[in-house]
Amino acid sequence: MSDQRRVALASALRDVRRRVAAAAGRSGRPPDAVTLVAVTKSFPADDVRRLVDLGVLDVGENRDQEARAKVLALADLPVRWHFVGRLQQNKCRSVARYAHLVHSVDRLALVGTLHRVAGELSRRLPVLVQVSLDGDPSRGGAAEPDVYRVAAAVAGSAHLALAGLMAVAPPTEDPDAAYARLARVAGRLRREHPQAVRVSAGMSGDFESAVRHGSTHVRIGSALLGSRPPLLR
Ligand SMILES: *Cc1c(COP(=O)(O)O)cnc(C)c1O
Repeated sequence: MSDQRRVALASALRDVRRRVAAAAGRSGRPPDAVTLVAVTKSFPADDVRRLVDLGVLDVGENRDQEARAKVLALADLPVRWHFVGRLQQNKCRSVARYAHLVHSVDRLALVGTLHRVAGELSRRLPVLVQVSLDGDPSRGGAAEPDVYRVAAAVAGSAHLALAGLMAVAPPTEDPDAAYARLARVAGRLRREHPQAVRVSAGMSGDFESAVRHGSTHVRIGSALLGSRPPLLR
C-alpha cells in the first residue's frame, strides 16, 4: 500500500519513534526499553495494516467490539493486540482470545472472570493492573491500596501473569507529578512481585514525561493517526 495516508503515517511514526528514543536516552535507557503501542481506536483496519507494514507490532484498542472486527480482518498479520479500555465482565472471554496484554484490570471480579476464561482457553494471559492516579473511578483504575490486592489475586492465578501496572494521567494535573506517583506504586509492587516490571503510561500529549518516570509501554493514538473522528454511535 503506497498511498498518501501511508506517507503521512510513516512520517508521524518516524517522529514519534525518534521522540520516544530520545526520552528513553535521557533517562539512561536504550530505545527498545520502551514499546510503542499504536492505539488505533476509531481508525479503520487499513490504517493498522499500513502501520504494521511500516514496522509496528503492537496495536491497542479500547473497545472489544471494534477490536474483534480488526482482529478478524487482519488475521494474516503478526499483530500483538493490546486491550487498553475499560473492561466489562461480559467482554472478558472475547478479549482473552486475542489479547497479547490486557492493560486495564482494575477490580477483583475481573481477575476471577479472566482467570476462568483464560483457563478455558488454556492460556496464561498477561495483564497489567490499572491504577487510578486521582481516585476518580469514572475513568477506571483501582485506588492504590486496592492495586496491591488486585495484583496479589492476579499473581495467585495459574491462568494469568502479573506483568505490571497501567495508568492514565488525570487531565487536570501536571503529568510529571502523576507519573512520579505511578513510579512509586510500581516500585512498591515490584518489591512484592519482581516479575511485574512493565509500566504502561504515556499518551500523545504526555509520553515524554511518562518515559522519564519509567514507562515501558507508551500508548499513542492521535500523534500517529491524527485526531479521532467523533464517535457516531
Ligand atoms: C485513546 C487512548 C490512548 C491514546 O490516546 P492519544 O491521546 O490519542 O495518544 C491511550 N490510552 C488509552 C487507554 C486510550 O483510550
